[in-house]
Amino acid sequence: MTKMTVPLLDLRRQYHTFKSDVLPVLERVCESQMFILGPEVSRLEVAIAAYCHSDHGIGVSSGTDALLLALMGLDIGPGDAVVTSPYTFFATGGTIARTGARPIYLDIDPVSFNLCPVILARYLAESCDQRDGALFDRVSGARVRAIMPVHLYGQMADMDPIMDLAKQYGLAVVEDAAQAIGAEYGGRRAGSIGDIGCFSFFPTKNLGAFGDAGLVTARDAELAERLRVMRVHGGKPKYYHALIGGNFRIDELQAAVLNVKLPLLESWSEGRRRNAVRYGELFAAAGLTDTIGLPVALAGRRHIYNQYVVRVPDRDRLRTFLAQEGIGTEIYYPVSLHQQACFAYLGYQTGDCRESERAAAETVALPIFAELEAAEIEYVVDAIRRFYA
Ligand SMILES: *Cc1c(COP(=O)(O)O)cnc(C)c1O
Repeated sequence: MTKMTVPLLDLRRQYHTFKSDVLPVLERVCESQMFILGPEVSRLEVAIAAYCHSDHGIGVSSGTDALLLALMGLDIGPGDAVVTSPYTFFATGGTIARTGARPIYLDIDPVSFNLCPVILARYLAESCDQRDGALFDRVSGARVRAIMPVHLYGQMADMDPIMDLAKQYGLAVVEDAAQAIGAEYGGRRAGSIGDIGCFSFFPTKNLGAFGDAGLVTARDAELAERLRVMRVHGGKPKYYHALIGGNFRIDELQAAVLNVKLPLLESWSEGRRRNAVRYGELFAAAGLTDTIGLPVALAGRRHIYNQYVVRVPDRDRLRTFLAQEGIGTEIYYPVSLHQQACFAYLGYQTGDCRESERAAAETVALPIFAELEAAEIEYVVDAIRRFYA
């Protein structure tokens, strides 16, 4: 095969398909000079909430701020604990710690890469004490308040048992759906099952803005209103603060971009799914399915493939080889959160989350964006075949 350059992601290919639609809209916002919480934001909030099968949408400044606002909205802070996955982007654990609460990292299921309900059930039953109608982590004494499942790579965590456990123990559920807009679990969409859903419109997500942006969804009207007020420093009416919030607003310009892109999201996610199927067929035809662990699209779920992540032997050498062949890859994520230096105070040891550590050592993301050409996918698979030959 002749040498090609296949980037992990090329947003320019997508941009050229909607450029003529988005530029006039941006110009319109500029002409209005209405940059803060204008009509584009209101339209986006309604449209995304509907797309996510949720009742309320509140546009925010980033996916990270969506998580932080969600935790603040649930009044989570010092003395509290939030249970989550250690195999995720930093913001998941970082925002928990920023509220003053303690992140509790439980190991993942090795097939879905998401929080494992069996391990979660065991933790809640065996490592916590129930007192005065509350639940306490026995080691730290922190009050367990919420579960934060992450829908990693675009496939949802096993939400039914997670919701059952949340109900049983009286815990809130915040879905980190940053990578999972439009993903489904039994026909229900990411962000519509827990108390709050958190989305990111970082440019590399399936629905990306022209900069930072995010959104929270909520089912409960009262909680949604609280989040809406906390997005503007907690002032309601303006300059009268019953709550302490922050500046968590989404930009009007970003909302305008997202309103143009949202109608195209289904076709992009379908393109990613089609590419994933193609990879599967080509890896099988190349006889590589015993060597490489392909992503598993679980029954009853819709995977939107924000990332296409495979398990491979000799991962780091493969990455170097693929880079020489002109193929972009990335490691999501090389260090699990329970092993990050900033979380040393939590006292986790290597070996505490074995599947998460193994995933961090074995996985690599391959190009999966919707506009990839068939020949590019063939080139990637052929390069991997040559590496292991
Ligand atoms: C991207 C991402 C975030 C943070 O979103 P930003 O918009 O980059 O702040 C949080 N959690 C996960 C799992 C993500 O992938």
